[in-house]
Parts: sequence; structure tokens; C-alpha cells
Amino acid sequence: MSTRGWMRYGSCVAGSSKVWITDTDRLPKPVVEAMTAICHCCPVREHCAAYADRINATGGFWAGRDRGLPTQPTLPGVKLLGGDAA
Ligand code: SF4
Repeated sequence: MSTRGWMRYGSCVAGSSKVWITDTDRLPKPVVEAMTAICHCCPVREHCAAYADRINATGGFWAGRDRGLPTQPTLPGVKLLGGDAA
């Protein structure tokens, strides 16, 4: 798949694009929960997350996460679900 070819298959393509670029703290919680659920089932979620990482996205909702919010810090030796210990 091309660098951005996966985008046309995103589950968010059919809906309103405005919510996906709005800071989640400005959206009603049920909307954010719905967006998270949509991303969870999206067939191109891994491409989306990788792309957001590659472009160093600092805003917008990508692959189930608001890229405008800081990530949770991890402590050395703490094993996250599905991840390796740091
Ligand atoms: S993972 Fe979420 S933001 Fe990314 S393409 Fe799919 S629905 Fe859109």
C-alpha cells in the first residue's frame, strides 16, 4: 500500500471529518468514546498509527489516540499490556 493509500479505507472516512481534528477535551465524552470504538475496529488502524508516528503528529485523533495530548510516562521495569518492559 502506498504511503497514504491506506487512508481511503479508514473507518473515519465516511463520517464528519471535523471531530477527528478537534481537541478531544472540546468534544463530549460519548463522541470521544465513539471515535475510540471506531478506531478500535478500523481495518487500517496499524497503518494509521504508524503514519501518525512517522509524521510526528502533534494533533488530531489518530488510531484511537488524541495526538495533541501527552502520552503517559512509563516507569522503568513497568510492563504495559501488549508491550515489553522498559
Ligand atoms: S484508525 Fe481511526 S483515525 Fe485512523 S483511519 Fe482508522 S478510524 Fe480513522
